[in-house]
Amino acid sequence: MAGTGVFQEILDGDVYKYYADGEWKTSSSGKSVSILNPATRQVQYKVQACTQEEVNKIFESAKAAQKLWAKVPLWKRAEALHKAAALLKEHKAPMAECLVKEVAKPAKDAVSEVVRSGDLISYTAEEGVRILSEGKFLVSDSFPGNERNKLCLSSKIPLGVVLAIPPFNYPVNLAVSKISPALIAGNAVVLKPPTQGAVAGLHMVHCFHLAGFPKGLLSCVTGKGSEIGDFLTMHPGVNCISFTGGDTGIAISKKASMVPLQMELGGKDACIVLEDADLDLAAANVVKGGYSYSGQRCTAVKVVLAIESIADELVSKVNAKIAKLTVGLPENNSDITAVVSESSANFIEGLVKDAKEKGATFCQEYRREGNLIWPLLVDHVRPDMRLAWEEPFGPVLPVIRISTAEEGIHHCNANNFALQGCVFTRDINKAILISNAMETGTVQINSAPARGPDHFPFQGLRDSGIGSQGITNSINMMTKVKSTVINLPSPSYTVG
Ligand code: NAP
Repeated sequence: MAGTGVFQEILDGDVYKYYADGEWKTSSSGKSVSILNPATRQVQYKVQACTQEEVNKIFESAKAAQKLWAKVPLWKRAEALHKAAALLKEHKAPMAECLVKEVAKPAKDAVSEVVRSGDLISYTAEEGVRILSEGKFLVSDSFPGNERNKLCLSSKIPLGVVLAIPPFNYPVNLAVSKISPALIAGNAVVLKPPTQGAVAGLHMVHCFHLAGFPKGLLSCVTGKGSEIGDFLTMHPGVNCISFTGGDTGIAISKKASMVPLQMELGGKDACIVLEDADLDLAAANVVKGGYSYSGQRCTAVKVVLAIESIADELVSKVNAKIAKLTVGLPENNSDITAVVSESSANFIEGLVKDAKEKGATFCQEYRREGNLIWPLLVDHVRPDMRLAWEEPFGPVLPVIRISTAEEGIHHCNANNFALQGCVFTRDINKAILISNAMETGTVQINSAPARGPDHFPFQGLRDSGIGSQGITNSINMMTKVKSTVINLPSPSYTVG
């Protein structure tokens, strides 16, 4: 159970502590932040509202710990990460319980998120050992006018202190996807978990604590992003920001100082279905892609662009599958569960009402109880409707009927979001052409968009992000290049 057994020390009364300098602490603010259970709308957990002074101290100790950590051999850093991965898997039950209660993640998916996170940490440890053990050796005589009298040794070195800010929908997985590449590369990490998902995040951090990482190397600050976020992102102690979330990321990138940014933001992933597609396959992926975790995935299918001639058949196949989705509590593994908050449910409802007023066809009756919204497919959506462009982050999916693939590509490229997209066709040549024409970070051929497997490159273009994630890219992103040049008194060539 959450907050019991080895996790007992992370709880003070009914408020979870924050983590600094290798210890679990109660904030001097005397204030806490309540976390509502999305399904019951009752207070489920409370976390500390950390003060600016506490944040300052955290950055100080992170800086000091990082200098020492950078001198720890790579294999030892990897060993510690493997230990954390094993602990995470061993304690998957309490973490999964938090995910169910804090973000209404269906129980089975909650367990998979934790297990996947353990695997991600181990893979990162292995990948880090390999890619960080290699550098470059360059000779000067390849550049015109030079002799071979300069030898350059370049290697990847840590950035310093990485500020990691994950979103509510994968508070464990998207936290470790930042923490583990940062640590293997020799950085320290300050984690600011999402408020919904903070307690799952604190349990995860405790697994790193139990794995024996040095004091101050990893810390976890809790509090509302709207209150403490700016202080964190503009803190002079930050050497890199790795953020996943919504438009907040755009605001952060404007405020941040001159530090590397990794931004994974929202998406409006389009699913283009051509006339020669396997419609059963397409329908199955539209439903899985559009409605898993109630549509609260950055890579959810968020608009279906179907060629008119097959649209009726596709819609009818999708509707048949929607009818089988279960709606209810995450504890019961329902397919559709409450969305994260009332404001999120209200936002989704706003998009639905706008589409209704402008004449879209509802394939199911719109139904909402509290934060629980029943799955809805909205057909005949047109470009003047908000649903055509905005990200509902809920179980509501628009269908736009198109005459040509070009029309679908045009719609996809006209959106500021450009995370992923997908195309369904039996013609691989056509699929490649469409993939090249869709200006998004990734295009999936004959499958719904997806972030995993976690070692694949993952990136958004335009307003969907800066940089690329995926284990290897994240490790590289969290390093900088350092060169040492040996200047010889005279040119020297190895004759062989
Ligand atoms: P969000 O509202 O942007 O919040 C993300 C994180 O930012 C949370 O930890 C939040 O903390 C924090 N935050 C809020 N205000 C801040 C500020 N001023 N400065 C610094 N941090 C601040 O996003 P969300 O609602 O959690 O997640 C949904 C969004 O994430 C969707 O748009 C989705 O598409 C996107 N997403 C993208 C990816 C991807 O990889 N591209 C993956 C998953 C989700 P609080 O919770 O305390 O406010």
